[in-house]
Amino acid sequence: MTNAIEQDSLFIGGGWRSPEGSGRITVISPNTEQALGSVPEGAEGDIDAAVAAARAAFTDRSGWGGWTAAQRADAMERLADELDKRSADLAQAVSSQNGMPIAIAQQLEAVFPQLLLRYYAGLAREYPFEETRPGLLGGSTLVTAEAVGVVGAIVPWNFPQALAAFKYAPGLAAGATFVLKPSPETVFDSYVFAEAVAAAGIPDGVINIVPGGRELGAYLVAHPGIDKVAFTGSSAAGRSISEVCGRLFRPVTLELGGKSAAIILDDADLDLAKIGEQIFGATLLNNGQTCFLGTRILAPAARYSEVVDTLTGLAASLQVGDALDPTTQIGPMATSRQRERVESYIAKGKGDGARLTTGGGRPEFTEQGWFVEPTIFADVDNNYAIAQEEIFGPVLSIISYDGDDDAVAIANASDYGLGGSVWTSDHDHGVAVARRIASGTVGINAYLPDPTAPFGGIKASGIGRELGPEGLAAYLVKKSIYL
Ligand code: NAD
Repeated sequence: MTNAIEQDSLFIGGGWRSPEGSGRITVISPNTEQALGSVPEGAEGDIDAAVAAARAAFTDRSGWGGWTAAQRADAMERLADELDKRSADLAQAVSSQNGMPIAIAQQLEAVFPQLLLRYYAGLAREYPFEETRPGLLGGSTLVTAEAVGVVGAIVPWNFPQALAAFKYAPGLAAGATFVLKPSPETVFDSYVFAEAVAAAGIPDGVINIVPGGRELGAYLVAHPGIDKVAFTGSSAAGRSISEVCGRLFRPVTLELGGKSAAIILDDADLDLAKIGEQIFGATLLNNGQTCFLGTRILAPAARYSEVVDTLTGLAASLQVGDALDPTTQIGPMATSRQRERVESYIAKGKGDGARLTTGGGRPEFTEQGWFVEPTIFADVDNNYAIAQEEIFGPVLSIISYDGDDDAVAIANASDYGLGGSVWTSDHDHGVAVARRIASGTVGINAYLPDPTAPFGGIKASGIGRELGPEGLAAYLVKKSIYL
């Protein structure tokens, strides 16, 4: 099945199954605007079959459902090995579909899942899945942590492999089983992943994959056979999913949008030779299509023009081009709809009176592809739409502040709270400011989520945490047996 661009079956119950419906998902290349191929569009009957297969695997006491944590860990390591063998295919599939620069896909999409699988395999081996506690009233209590059951996992197109692994890696460590619904924009990589799952000897039905759009996602979320929903995507979809899960008393993890602040403190080193790569990673990674990016740059009034010049210089220097070119730093937007959205925000920024210092249009090198120039707006008020709403493109807003209190107040004046960064030459000063930012994660002089630490948001950026031991706990249910 690897890399074949026309697929006829779905990975359900450990094998390749004919789809229930006749619908197809066609993926268009963001680089060339040409069709790359197609796969079956999952139908409700496919979700039913996938949920049934996941349930059967979960309850199979002589198979997955009866495996020890050490057996699961071994299988996870085998899956990591199989993904390693396919890392080039995975990177290629992701970049060709969503426009992620291939160098970034090779560093993240083709590597992060294996990192997580191996980390959680290690955690599974040592995790206290049960303990006996002495009771206060005499006797004792056996406290067990059992897998939550069948998980409906829904992922977006921006990091389809890594964000799926954020869910299945801790989930497999816990003993859960999965119905994974990839986004219709990124489906081919899920076939490479399925091949790795089969080759790794993960028991049938533990991971099932049904690509489809939001209606299919909604069907999965509300399905009576699902025990937990793990979602990454927009805040709008997250709101609707949390309403359904609330009604059903269904546990849900929501990793949603962001509009984070990158606070440049007055003592920051702005030498791009030293910090250019880190600033790029924290503000523009993956063509600006990354949830945690610090897209509001908060600059001290005394150094405002210096910050504007630095960011303008960085954005203007970036190599924009075909995502599959290894030298590309900014590829195209994932879809034409996404480019329209980004361009509409650029128009709003201009209309609101922000000052465009670079970019703002489409690059001239090609007529094809959904490209947008890296764009910097200066003189932005934090109330402007470009400062309050998630653009999800290579567009940064630079906002002036006066003193740390003002910087923190502006950073926190947002509906979101996912990422953020503080730039300073004084470590303690940076940490002190980071503590005051209302957000689930903050980086100092860089931003890169650490697999061992909880990742997630507050406010409209979501509920719950992925990664770290906290990410494993999200797939476990505690039970007390009073002895
Ligand atoms: P989206 O919400 O439109 O879609 C995400 C996924 O959810 C897709 O698979 C889609 O088919 C499905 N979906 C949409 N509506 C649904 C519904 N009502 N019920 C069930 N499933 C539904 O988001 P997108 O445009 O694909 O991705 C971009 C968004 O994802 C951005 O807002 C970005 O910030 C967010 N994101 C968040 C994180 C994070 O960890 N917090 C990471 C990456 C992306």
